[in-house]
Amino acid sequence: MPRPMKRSRRAEIAIVGAGIAGIATAYYLCKQYGRKSVLLIDSRPPMSFTSAQSGDNYRNWWPHPQMVEFSNRSIDLMETVAREAANAVNLRRRGYVLVTRRTNIDDLLADLHTGYGEDAGRLIRIHGGPSAAAYSASLTSNWQSAPDGVDVITDTSLIRSTLPALAEDIRCVIHIRRAGDFNSQQLGTLMLERVRAAGGKRVPGHLVGILRGSGFELDVLTPDGTEKIFADVIVNAAGPFARKIALLLGVDLPIQNRFQQKIAFEDARGAVTREMPFAVDLDSMDFDWTDDVRELLADDPNLAWLTGTLPGGRHCRPDGGAGSKWVKLGWAYNSDVSEPQDDLANEEKLDKQFPEIVIRAASSLIPSLATYIESPPKRFSHYGGCYSMTEEN
Ligand SMILES: Cc1cc2nc3c(=O)[nH]c(=O)nc-3n(C[C@H](O)[C@H](O)[C@H](O)COP(=O)(O)OP(=O)(O)OC[C@H]3O[C@@H](n4cnc5c(N)ncnc54)[C@H](O)[C@@H]3O)c2cc1C
Repeated sequence: MPRPMKRSRRAEIAIVGAGIAGIATAYYLCKQYGRKSVLLIDSRPPMSFTSAQSGDNYRNWWPHPQMVEFSNRSIDLMETVAREAANAVNLRRRGYVLVTRRTNIDDLLADLHTGYGEDAGRLIRIHGGPSAAAYSASLTSNWQSAPDGVDVITDTSLIRSTLPALAEDIRCVIHIRRAGDFNSQQLGTLMLERVRAAGGKRVPGHLVGILRGSGFELDVLTPDGTEKIFADVIVNAAGPFARKIALLLGVDLPIQNRFQQKIAFEDARGAVTREMPFAVDLDSMDFDWTDDVRELLADDPNLAWLTGTLPGGRHCRPDGGAGSKWVKLGWAYNSDVSEPQDDLANEEKLDKQFPEIVIRAASSLIPSLATYIESPPKRFSHYGGCYSMTEEN
């Protein structure tokens, strides 16, 4: 039976989705552009869907100048928020260290040059000899004093002395310096408070229909019935569901979703040094299975892929503030496109082997993590969500 029509209201701007994208949009509309009539529509609590699954890492490293410019602008904005809020968002800038066992890194350097464009000469520093001391002295987590650009280190003794946790076969480290982590839940909460204070409102409901006329007429299912919202402008910030929302307007938005997972656990055995930057292993890898295990895996259609060569990208970083022992590990190896699920906590969706796979894989980057292969951490959380991407990433 159709639910009763509850009420109708007007707004200048209706934002669909109260994840970080919707909240940040509302924040700047209110703060920077002085808009008061802003509604944030979402049946879920704010920041509770994909935005609750994030690794909370940021970086200005992209192999494309427009993406570098775009992320620099985003980081400028985050730093402004951090400055205004006495760093309540816990912004830290230890950087991203991208590591490889290769000695020829011409292609990686070419990507860096493309990304940093005309600033490349100023921003790319290749270390060896006397500049090593300058690099060591520049290591910090302070977002206000860490340098910009990238340090490229091919001197293995410098790698050993500055990043002792890394595997000894690593030959090159590319340390992106305008990069680090922050507490995105705090950022969302803080922005939402400002939106409310500026007159913006939340509508706890699910958008099910849009009619287009001179403006937009939205049908929103709320716990009390269907609400009509008339808006001059709508913003589609529905994350993995953005394609569905666009389809309500007859527009095909080419966004694909890939489910990716992470784990976080208490590193009671101190495998990861607390000062370590976010470390990403760029190299593809083969697991070193015994013959018996390899045979067993190869016979299982769901696990046979573990006997082949696997992509790079496994990553690790210490998580939490002073006194924390938590670490986060991830590896976005899934290349299958899927429909977004409504329930991210659904354990069916999570790959039960993921924690063991990612710990094994990350121990080729940080060998001391191997302690958790045979004797897994007592407490850990395993979670996942969608990477929503255009076809060309
Ligand atoms: C495992 C993992 C790790 C990640 N790590 C990082 C990282 O380290 N750094 C980084 O920058 N990014 C990271 N990301 C990506 C980042 O989390 C996302 O880009 C970001 O959270 C997307 O935010 P969003 O607001 O677009 O989407 P969401 O947070 O998904 O919000 C969309 C909202 O829209 C709502 N919605 C959908 N349909 C409707 C409807 N019909 N009516 C009303 N509301 C609707 C949903 O309820 C949801 O709350 C990671 C992602 C994953 C999955």
